[in-house]
Amino acid sequence: MNFCDEDFLLSNAVAEDLYHNVAAEQPIVDFHCHLSPRDIAEDRQFENLQAIWLDGDHYKWRAMRANGISENLITGTGSVREKFQAWAQTVPQTLRNPLFHWTHLELRRSFGIDDLLEPDTAQKIWDEANRQLTHGTLTARGILARMNVAVVGTTDDPADSLQWHQAIANVQAASQSQTSFTTRVVPTFRPDAALKVRQPAHVQAWAKRLSDVAGIAADTFTGLVAALTQRHDDFAAAGCRASDHGLASLADTVCTPAEAGRIWEQAMAGTPANKEEADRFALWITLFVSRLNDSKGWVTQLHLGAFRDPNPLLASLLGADAGCDTIGDARQGPGLVRFFGTLSAERSLPRTILYNINPADNALFAAMPGSFHNGSIPGQIQHGPPWWFLDQERGIRSHLDMLSDLSLLSRFVGMTTDSRSFLSYPRHEYFRRVLCDVVGADVASGRLPDRRDWLNRLIADVCGQNAQKLFGFLTP
Ligand SMILES: [Zn+2]
Repeated sequence: MNFCDEDFLLSNAVAEDLYHNVAAEQPIVDFHCHLSPRDIAEDRQFENLQAIWLDGDHYKWRAMRANGISENLITGTGSVREKFQAWAQTVPQTLRNPLFHWTHLELRRSFGIDDLLEPDTAQKIWDEANRQLTHGTLTARGILARMNVAVVGTTDDPADSLQWHQAIANVQAASQSQTSFTTRVVPTFRPDAALKVRQPAHVQAWAKRLSDVAGIAADTFTGLVAALTQRHDDFAAAGCRASDHGLASLADTVCTPAEAGRIWEQAMAGTPANKEEADRFALWITLFVSRLNDSKGWVTQLHLGAFRDPNPLLASLLGADAGCDTIGDARQGPGLVRFFGTLSAERSLPRTILYNINPADNALFAAMPGSFHNGSIPGQIQHGPPWWFLDQERGIRSHLDMLSDLSLLSRFVGMTTDSRSFLSYPRHEYFRRVLCDVVGADVASGRLPDRRDWLNRLIADVCGQNAQKLFGFLTP
């Protein structure tokens, strides 16, 4: 077998058949990512390979730091060409890291470039990729069309005006008959900024923006609740089908509305909440938004467990989301039980997708949803995509095994890129190949019957159909 050939990661005949004839045919449903809706609205033509590939990709930045590259050539003032050279220098050092596979899949699938990236090939690859980026159809929308992306769920602050989502809708409405851009681009309601009550200046500035866009003063707690409710409705009108919440862990006690109000209004007056207050306030907001979600049939997504900004030096130099975060080890069970138990008792538990960052917690995340299903929606609550530090081949295999053992693999919503780069779509291909290999190997070893009708259904469902249904993307 040659490196990264057509049967990459497929080790048996059933796997090859399932991948090539079922999985590869499925449109991509990328329900959680960080692509810029502005780039899609403007159909951005990227100026060079650095801009579309390295800018904002903290996976690559971490690898470059681990390879001893100076920060100047990662996020600093080095030229775009110098930064690309530093990445080319790093790639041969990423053997057995998923970046090695993703890098070459992305060069092949987007640009048709089969060369291995290394210092000696860097100039040739730079020139060819840039030629295609600046002259061809590899624009933001062109890539989504080429990769057969049916749905993109971006990540949006309730204080965001959604103007770029509106612009995308306008483009699609204006060119309905002849448009080649049919990807459904939807916002996701992510109110994390409201939770920063330990940083009064931050929430004060955010509340001002929220007030302006909602037309409701959010400096009182009553106003905050009304403004979030208004924006939830506005997001629904823009096609939103989910909220998203990033937390180290959920608190295992919830504050009363009166306590939540006091915490918010003290922060508005400049007094920071302590950690326990902030955690309890965060749970209150997450429960509040989840009730709104349930009323609209939306999905609550909980991204749990990241240890944010552990390195104060890098955090002070680079700010958030710069590849400095790591796997946290906060206890997840009590807060999840409180979250699910509270909403379940109220009969207002929405569809919920959990994202776990710590492999030690995989069994807990896979098992717990089974205690709370309401018996009406397949896969209503589930351990969602293998996330962040767990989205490589071994992480995916272990994820699929855990879901199979403790829940229903057949109801799994599958993969999402969670990426900031338009070139990341081969990560779906990578996931699908692993999935087909796992299922095919079970057939080859006699663990599963060779019932292609069942197997084809499972592969198609996990490669997009389940996500379409759970999020409600199939309805207009
Ligand atoms: Zn994300």
